[in-house]
Amino acid sequence: MFYRLKTDFRLSIITMLGASAILGITPFAIMRFLQGNVIAGVVDTGILFGIVGTLAYAWITGDTRRGGLFLAVLCCSGAVIVGAVVGEPGLFWLYPCLVTSFFLTSPKIATFINIAAVVALMIHGVAFSSDLQMWSFAATAFVVSACAYVFAYRNDDQRRRLEHLATIDPLTGVKNRRSMDEELQLAVYSADRNRTSYGLALLDIDHFKRINDTYGHGVGDQVLSELVAMIEQNTRKTDQLFRYGGEEFVLLLPGVDTTGLRAVVHNLQQVLRKYMHCPGGPVTVSFGVASLRPRESVDAWLTRADAALYRAKETGRDRVVFADQERGELGVAAGA
Ligand code: GH3
Ligand code: MG
Ligand code: MG
Repeated sequence: MFYRLKTDFRLSIITMLGASAILGITPFAIMRFLQGNVIAGVVDTGILFGIVGTLAYAWITGDTRRGGLFLAVLCCSGAVIVGAVVGEPGLFWLYPCLVTSFFLTSPKIATFINIAAVVALMIHGVAFSSDLQMWSFAATAFVVSACAYVFAYRNDDQRRRLEHLATIDPLTGVKNRRSMDEELQLAVYSADRNRTSYGLALLDIDHFKRINDTYGHGVGDQVLSELVAMIEQNTRKTDQLFRYGGEEFVLLLPGVDTTGLRAVVHNLQQVLRKYMHCPGGPVTVSFGVASLRPRESVDAWLTRADAALYRAKETGRDRVVFADQERGELGVAAGA
C-alpha cells in the first residue's frame, strides 16, 4: 500500500484529498440531519459515498486519471449544490474544490470545471445577498484558481524533471536500475493479478573492457549508445530496456510466452552480432533469458536470468542461454 502511495503521485493526491474531504464533510452531514436540513444532509451523504467510491475505484483499478477527474467533478458539483441549498455558508466549500481540481486532473479540464462551477452558482444566484457579493465571489474564485493553476503547473513540471533525473541513465537515455526495480515489481504484481506472461533478458556486451582499453572510453560509450538504439529498433514499443549497470542491460518483455520469447531474443542476438561494430570489428553480446514463473519474486527471476547469462559467458559468449522453466535446467542456443 505504502509502495503504491510512494510511486503513484496522483493516487497519493486522490487518497489525501479524499481522506481530508471525508473527515471535513462527515461532521457537517451529521449536523445537517440533526438540524432537520434533510436535503443538505442527503447531498453531503451523496458526496461522501461518491468520494469513497472514487477512492475504491482508483485503488482497485489503478486508473487514477478517471478517478481524479471524477473526484474533481464530484467535489465542485457537490459544492455548487451545497451552495444552492444552504446559501452563503455553502459558498466557502467551493474554494478548496477550486484549488484541488488542478491537482486531480489536467489544467484544461480543471479550468473548465472551475468556470462551470462558478458560473452555475452565479446563474442560480440564490446563494448571494447582493450583486457586489456575487462579483466579489467570482473575482476571488478566479484569483484562487489562477494561483492554484500556476502552482500545480510548476509542481508538475518540477516533478517531471526530478523523475527524469532520478530514473533515466544520462549516457544512453534508457531507464536506470532504480526504475527497473519498480517496473519489475509492477510486472510481478501484474502477472499475479492479470495472468500476463513476462520474459526477461539480461544482456552483457562481450569483452567490453578490451574495447575501452584499446580504443578509449569515448568509443566504449558510443558502443553502448549504439546497442541501445539497435535494441529499441528491434523490439516492440511495450518492451522496456533498462541499464542494469556498466555494459549490462535488462530487457523486459510483457505478453510473450516461452516460444515467443525464444524467437524474439534469438532474432535480437542475430541482429546485434550482424550490425554492431567498433573500429576493431564486430561487437557481440551474451544473453541470459528467463520467463517469469507463477508467484516468483523479482530477485529469484533476476537470479535465474543471471545464472543463464553466466552460462552464456562460460560456454563461449556471443550466445543466448534460456533458464528452462519446466525442469530448472538451462537451454543453450549458440549464436555462431
Ligand atoms: P565479459 O565478456 O566477461 O562481459 O567481459 P567484459 O570485458 O565485457 O566485462 P568486464 O566486467 O571485465 O568489464 C566491463 C567494463 O565496462 C569495465 C568498465 O570500465 C566498463 N564500463 C562500465 N561502465 C561504462 C561506461 O559508462 N562507459 C564505458 N565506456 N565503459 C564502461
Ligand atoms: Mg561484458
Ligand atoms: Mg558485465
